[in-house]
Amino acid sequence: MTVAAALRAAAAKLAGVSDTARLDAEVLMAHALRVSRSELLLRHTREPAPESFAALVARRQGHEPVAYITGMQEFFGLPLRVSPAVLIPRGDSETLVEAALAAQPAARRVLDLGTGSGALLLAVLAQLPGAGGIGIDRSVRALAVAAGNAAALGLSGRTGFLQRDWTRRQWQAGLGDCDLILANPPYVELAAELAPAVREHEPAGALFAGDDGLDDYRRLIPDIPALLAPGGAALIEIGATQADAVTQIARDAGFAVRLCRDLAGRDRVLKLTAR
Ligand code: GLN
Repeated sequence: MTVAAALRAAAAKLAGVSDTARLDAEVLMAHALRVSRSELLLRHTREPAPESFAALVARRQGHEPVAYITGMQEFFGLPLRVSPAVLIPRGDSETLVEAALAAQPAARRVLDLGTGSGALLLAVLAQLPGAGGIGIDRSVRALAVAAGNAAALGLSGRTGFLQRDWTRRQWQAGLGDCDLILANPPYVELAAELAPAVREHEPAGALFAGDDGLDDYRRLIPDIPALLAPGGAALIEIGATQADAVTQIARDAGFAVRLCRDLAGRDRVLKLTAR
């Protein structure tokens, strides 16, 4: 079978599990052939399909996200390695990067709380050549992914990754004086209806935050004032229905709060600054 025919057959098979079946098939085929998607479409469609393709499609049929199958996800223009130890960076979170760069264009010290793949921290540092940053996570496996991404992007010299767990006492020791704090904490309600690709494959520890999805905001936000340098800002990702509740938590912690929306117009990020 040619690549073109295999792509058509795979797109039909994947239609039941994916809203982007044809795209998924192309990305998986490009991965199997070790070429870019545009090279695939320009130069390889008449070749015989590689034998390894069927197994990749079968994994996707089992709801495994494409990013875990290929091990790559682009975020804010950066190619990032991902594994099931980390949440797959979402396009929605690019809103947070833009808000952070607008809030602190001359930041020197950046802290990313729950760094996962390192996506937020590395995107910000790639835009701020004078800045350095620390990413913390409770998952050692996630920290290894983040450090690998920093190295691949040439950012190791300006980054550090530390194992910390903000449910433990003293988790903030030594982390203070930041111009910019970034956080995409877990914020999904335990009973939320999630796509199988998310619920069965992405790390629960990066998603779920108690019955109302607010547990991590309640723990984390009161500790943020002590970590910010004077004039600094914290950018916190929220779920689309959480703006009011998280704004209240932040006001109770002494912050002035501004809401930023994502490209779809949904509430997505809160900017916290000292009042
Ligand atoms: N945005 C993610 C989702 O919709 C959730 C990320 C998180 O909990 N921080 O699945």
